[in-house]
Amino acid sequence: MIHLCALGSGSSGNSFYIGAETGGVLMDAGFSAKETFSRLNAVGIALSKIKGIVISHEHSDHVKGLGPVARKLNIPVHISHSTLSQVAARAGTLPAIRVFRSGETFEAGGMEVTPFSIPHDAVDPCAFVFRVNGTSVAVATDAGSATTLIRDKMRGLSHIAIESNHDVAMLMAGPYPWELKQRIASRSGHLSNETCGELLKELIHPGLQGVTLAHISKINNNADLVRLTADDALNASGVPYHIATQDAPGPLVAVE
Ligand SMILES: [Zn+2]
Ligand SMILES: [Zn+2]
Repeated sequence: MIHLCALGSGSSGNSFYIGAETGGVLMDAGFSAKETFSRLNAVGIALSKIKGIVISHEHSDHVKGLGPVARKLNIPVHISHSTLSQVAARAGTLPAIRVFRSGETFEAGGMEVTPFSIPHDAVDPCAFVFRVNGTSVAVATDAGSATTLIRDKMRGLSHIAIESNHDVAMLMAGPYPWELKQRIASRSGHLSNETCGELLKELIHPGLQGVTLAHISKINNNADLVRLTADDALNASGVPYHIATQDAPGPLVAVE
């Protein structure tokens, strides 16, 4: 069994807990240590269960709390070499660093963790598949397009957490400067509701137990639009989904 909880997700901060029986990890540390620990406490996850932090990329909404969280828990940080070069100065001294390479599986929190590359405007952005005894969970938060590699890595899993970042019409009509609109909508920006829905349709299979929709934009999206696309993609299959929010942790989902 794998437990998954979106402690919070959105452009102001991202952190997920993914854990097996014996322990677990945080994926990203985009909240302060105080906020991270308070959210873990609210969900009932003991700090002693957290055995490491895996980092997807260097954007501050994913690493803002990295140094303090790692030091207070005294746990290793799993990170790629290039991403480390971007965050080292900001994070300060880390208790231990375990460098991973995209595509190479490592062990963390009693799980097999496989990082894979995603298209996003960072030096070495990764998503992860976590596996224990035939149970598998993927978390991919920032990805500009649904590449063949994403499709391959996310096929046949027990649970998928994926971003449904923006509604294209809201983004284009919204208040962001043109350059930022183009960056978000580009192939190395963020996934729209529509692209997320199309990807989910492809990934439905009898073993898929649930979906977590993450990194929802507060400015360029809303829960009703996310639901509209997710309902269209998932309702016929009966696969349940949950929308992660910025301000509060989601449920602790048990994936068999
Ligand atoms: Zn982000
Ligand atoms: Zn990002």
